Amino acid sequence: MNTLHLPKYSFGVGDRFAREAEPQLRACMTAAERGVEVTPVWNKSHREHTIIGTEPTSQREAADAAVERLGWRRPYFVDADHINLTNVDAFLAPCDFFTIDVADAIGRPAESADIEAFVRKHDELGLAGDVAAVAGRYLAAVKEAAQIYRYIASRKGEGTFVVEVSMDETEKPQTPRELMVILAALADEGVPVQTIAPKFSGRFNKGVDYVGDVEQFTREFEEDVNILSVAASRYGLTEELKLSVHSGSDKFSLYGPIREVIRKYGAGLHLKTAGTTWLEELVGLAEAGGEGLALAKEIYREAYARREELCAPYAAVIDIDPARLPAPDEVDAWNEGEYAAALRHDPSNPAFNPHFRQLLHVGYKIAAKMGRRYLDMLEACRETVARNVTENLFERHIRPLFLD
Ligand SMILES: [Zn+2]
Repeated sequence: MNTLHLPKYSFGVGDRFAREAEPQLRACMTAAERGVEVTPVWNKSHREHTIIGTEPTSQREAADAAVERLGWRRPYFVDADHINLTNVDAFLAPCDFFTIDVADAIGRPAESADIEAFVRKHDELGLAGDVAAVAGRYLAAVKEAAQIYRYIASRKGEGTFVVEVSMDETEKPQTPRELMVILAALADEGVPVQTIAPKFSGRFNKGVDYVGDVEQFTREFEEDVNILSVAASRYGLTEELKLSVHSGSDKFSLYGPIREVIRKYGAGLHLKTAGTTWLEELVGLAEAGGEGLALAKEIYREAYARREELCAPYAAVIDIDPARLPAPDEVDAWNEGEYAAALRHDPSNPAFNPHFRQLLHVGYKIAAKMGRRYLDMLEACRETVARNVTENLFERHIRPLFLD
């Protein structure tokens, strides 16, 4: 069967307000000029659309327009990120990449007949008792993924979209062994998965670096890469099956180890780094000075006042020490360089403040509520905003992952 194919290296670029597709695409063009193809995938979840008040079609329009204007002749995708059966409909027409989220179904009891059938079929997985336990934990989630996949396929046609299965928004990481069972089950269900997003160990806090044991992550990542390669040939999944890392943005200390592992095995990679673009918009507004900087300060003042409410939904993925947040009056006295330095993710800069950054990361609702006023300011400060978006994506993400 002819299937829409996701190239080896792809990048999930989120764009909360759908204004930065062009500077994001420029980062991919720079990569292409340096000899590495990185496919842009514009991803946005139902949750983000709801908070911002946008429709999935707007991301498609922004992506198409950027591709047209910059003359990009390579593949690109628009990803319905973390969808399920209750919210997929609005994404069917504009998207050609679907991240099927089954996190909620993990641990839901599977039918014992299904578990028995799975164990009987899969001698190759070894220890029967263990396989039954793992299958018991994941079979219901896989069945749900299959149901969503078949629904999308019935509307769009088989082979016309890329399938990712995500399980990253769960409490416990999946072990490589569990990943093997999941892939076997997905293959049994006929889900043509091209990328899979497990939960890795360690903390993937929003917009800041990885917190955890990098060596342990690296071992786990390497084992997962090997599992995918074995599973692909054993179960007839695509040879290009690859891991998707939902990074929560900016896991810089993992980029070196990831790069080494994918090079060692010739493996592909999909990496989502959605949240940074909104923060680069803020850096760009600040750097523009004048009204741009004033608006960036206003957003901080309101985020500070509403910090508890803004942080609550993200409690599991942020670590903000309120004592380390500058008071809004203090921030009001900053010049453009000081605001940008506190926010920009440059751990080597002593002025960088991860608490300030994380609060603004979850503060995009404030900009969303400003509506036109925020969007117009982005356009008024287009030059500094675009420069920061492109530079960030290329210099801090694409380059260390694929080029260094
Ligand atoms: Zn995710």
